[in-house]
Amino acid sequence: MNSVSSDSIVDNILQVFKNILGEPPIGLHEPTFEGNEWKYLKECLDSTFVSSVGKYVDLFEAQLAEFTGAKHAVAVVNGTAALHIALKLSGVSPGSEVLLPAFTFVATANAVTYCQAKPHFIDIEEKTLGICPASVYEYLKSISEMRGGKCFNRQTGCEITAMIAMHSFGHPVDIEGILKVSRDFNIPVVEDAAEALGSYSHGEHVGHSGLIGALSFNGNKIITTGGGGAILTDNQDLAARAKHLTTTAKTAHPWEYRHDAIGFNYRLPNINAALGCAQLESLPQKLQNKRKLFNRYKNAFEKVSGIFIFEEPENCKSNYWLQAILLNEDDIVLRNEILDYSNKNGYCTRPAWELLSTLDPYINCQKMDLINSKSVQNRLINIPSSAHL
Ligand SMILES: *Cc1c(COP(=O)(O)O)cnc(C)c1O
Repeated sequence: MNSVSSDSIVDNILQVFKNILGEPPIGLHEPTFEGNEWKYLKECLDSTFVSSVGKYVDLFEAQLAEFTGAKHAVAVVNGTAALHIALKLSGVSPGSEVLLPAFTFVATANAVTYCQAKPHFIDIEEKTLGICPASVYEYLKSISEMRGGKCFNRQTGCEITAMIAMHSFGHPVDIEGILKVSRDFNIPVVEDAAEALGSYSHGEHVGHSGLIGALSFNGNKIITTGGGGAILTDNQDLAARAKHLTTTAKTAHPWEYRHDAIGFNYRLPNINAALGCAQLESLPQKLQNKRKLFNRYKNAFEKVSGIFIFEEPENCKSNYWLQAILLNEDDIVLRNEILDYSNKNGYCTRPAWELLSTLDPYINCQKMDLINSKSVQNRLINIPSSAHL
């Protein structure tokens, strides 16, 4: 490696940050509360309905369904809980295997584990940063067999009960390709759309093309309720069961405490939903600002050789939740130099997640060849992305 050119790349990136973002310190992703947040929170406190019932939960669910085009939205306590219930409802059973990208946040695999199922890691494609339908198809053909209309891993004997598609940093995966694989092998698709509120694939909002999907409203996501999440689905029966399971599985009655299943206390408190209603109002503005920031970065990085900014896949509209730059070369030393230098200078940058297949709890899981996941992990850096920048 030539140290002169690596020094100049590192300096050039810092110059781009200075020009576009202004004086440090600049965080990676900060929430903004510039609309009706105070007003709705005050209303919520004044009503004393801050917890498990209240009008904001219903309102937030209705507004989420309207915005995403999903027939139903069920608000829950966080994105991980949304994924847990989504997987359970899609038929993930104890001892079965669930396909998911190795390139994702750890919550995706944890939710599988909460169902007592086993994560089975599959590779991504660079054009979407999400799972690659073509290579997953070839892989399933080589390792699986169909028995009684169900897909089994021939090597382990376990049934494969779901496939999770995750929209990395808000960029939509090739959902049409994934749904085709899903039909060929009869494996339901669960969408981890935690990062992708406001993202569209072929004109459709992500998160409800498969059987069921999950959103997150954690503090670092495009809108936040402090902590929160939602389950999206077009299936009325699944939506009703999601609501029931996430609200302690209590049967309807004016006063009796009767529960007909082992439910979960996963409901979103009314006070968080109040915040969510205000945040949703500002989502269109946030989406616009993020797209503008992307365009400014794109113009600037066009002049920096060796680096490009990740752009929304074809026929997709991304929310540009977290901006990502990629090095042309698989050069982990340079990646780490960039991380070190930018953070030292007050511009927060972060690497992508360590591949989940390398984490202690998941190191012995089944996996396919993760060649693209490894390459992207070594080359990708997330850069400051707040909507107010
Ligand atoms: C944030 C996130 C989650 C989990 O959401 P929480 O609300 O933090 O529980 C799950 N998957 C992905 C890809 C995420 O980015």
